[in-house]
Amino acid sequence: MLGTKVSFQQACSIIKNGGVVAVPTETVYGLAGDFKNINAIKQIFQIKKRPLWDPLIIHFSSKKELKKLCKYSDPIVEKLSDYFHPGPLTLVLRKNPIVSDLITAGSSKVAIRMPRHPLTLKLMTQTNTCLVAPSANVFSKTSPTRADHVLESLQVPVLNGGPCEVGIESTILEVCFEKKIFSILRPGFIGPKELNSFISRHQLNWKVQQSQSSSFPGSHQKHYQPDIPLILIQTDEEHLPSEGIEKKIKEYYPDCIPQELQLKNNPYIFGREFYHNLKQLSKNKNSVGYIVQKSKSGQCGEDWTALWDRIEKASDKVICY
Ligand code: AMP
Ligand code: MG
Repeated sequence: MLGTKVSFQQACSIIKNGGVVAVPTETVYGLAGDFKNINAIKQIFQIKKRPLWDPLIIHFSSKKELKKLCKYSDPIVEKLSDYFHPGPLTLVLRKNPIVSDLITAGSSKVAIRMPRHPLTLKLMTQTNTCLVAPSANVFSKTSPTRADHVLESLQVPVLNGGPCEVGIESTILEVCFEKKIFSILRPGFIGPKELNSFISRHQLNWKVQQSQSSSFPGSHQKHYQPDIPLILIQTDEEHLPSEGIEKKIKEYYPDCIPQELQLKNNPYIFGREFYHNLKQLSKNKNSVGYIVQKSKSGQCGEDWTALWDRIEKASDKVICY
């Protein structure tokens, strides 16, 4: 069953027998295994070629699992989960001993979320467990948003759940109880605006901030990288002829054909197709992809923060023009 699509029942047997299977979520496909099975966890690190210092997210399917996985007394945790789950928000909380140190890379904290895809939720209820499920890609490469993307890069069984509806990874939020701060470790489509609505809806005196630290796990600069170079062109110009840009790119990549990946007005529509479009561009090995970031464009607002984070990390080079 390696490198093939499997049925739901086959996926259940794989999980129960300590194997790994790629599963759909609303963000990206995850490479999943039973969180209690050390052998499954080790396979995930091996298959992804992921270094052991980079911890894995645990997915859960019902609120009762929260108390099992994490240690907390503040009701804010359940309020957050009631408000945002199932959905693309990962919470970083103190772990309970049931969560192995291998999952958290030795940290006392664990990252958890409830995904919104019905098949993966059902897989967890039928197997009666939670799933460790980092993105189903080779470490530092572009994340998969369709079953075929997984099969193109990994020899693993895949449960096909169609194209991912969000298309980029979840927001990772560390909950700092003493200072009453929600610290965003990785931006996603749930941003300060949504978190502040949650705060005012519940009349809380919590604050939202971008993490001050640049050394949390997964914050390495190179990430989400396609198989061809991606160039980020930054400019203050409003109208920039593509001939000029392409000539500039050719100074760095003389033998390649520059191809623009055009932004859209709506960040959610762009986000849903972003990794798929990167993978499509990469099919032509002679291409260099490029994205133009205009400082005065509509794509500068908060709704675009997560996308610029992914674009910058996926880029081989930034050219100011
Ligand atoms: P992915 O592998 O794409 O699912 O991404 C999971 C992200 O969550 C990675 O960037 C991890 O480094 C991050 N992560 C997982 N566990 C933790 C944790 N305990 N603390 C902070 N970040 C974490
Ligand atoms: Mg990943």
